[in-house]
Amino acid sequence: MPTLKTLLAQVRACQLCAAHLPLAPKPILQAGRQARILIVGQAPGRRAHDAGKPFADISGERLRQWLDVEEQRFYDATQFAILPMGFCFPGTGRQGDLPPRPECAPAWRQALMAKLPNIELTLVIGRYAQAHYFGGKDSVTDTVRRWREYLPELLPLPHPSPRNQRWLKQNPWFDAELLPYLRQRVAAIGEK
Ligand code: SF4
Repeated sequence: MPTLKTLLAQVRACQLCAAHLPLAPKPILQAGRQARILIVGQAPGRRAHDAGKPFADISGERLRQWLDVEEQRFYDATQFAILPMGFCFPGTGRQGDLPPRPECAPAWRQALMAKLPNIELTLVIGRYAQAHYFGGKDSVTDTVRRWREYLPELLPLPHPSPRNQRWLKQNPWFDAELLPYLRQRVAAIGEK
């Protein structure tokens, strides 16, 4: 069995779906064996691709506000693992970024997860991650509305994209109930 370091090097050299990507493969992920919080989103956007860092965009700013963490902690792989459902920028369609490449999760997720034994809380962001964890029968709204059912290990969230501003306005319980819980858990895990 490879070490996490070796596995990450293998992921970063992956070319599996290169023929389907608009740019050269550039897997964007972060993971450390000590990480206690796992963030699972869809796939990096163009800005994250260019920066070589996950959530290096306006969605990331909002996500860090939701978590109430500074960039320094967010990008500390010993605290946060960030494994999107697809590791490379999949390209953009008419309605925003394309879905994560379907080859990616079957190729890498299980091996990576086996190297993260300390995860206490997994943030399941957006419909592709929620389809993977919850089966995808329900909408993001319905899944996130039932967030208490998945505790303490899993917490579904909508995508923090500015495109979801209207969703946030239409679902005030998210700000009023879910976010305070999320911040309290993230702070408590950070104090351990
Ligand atoms: S998206 Fe995943 S499977 Fe495709 S090249 Fe990147 S790392 Fe490999």
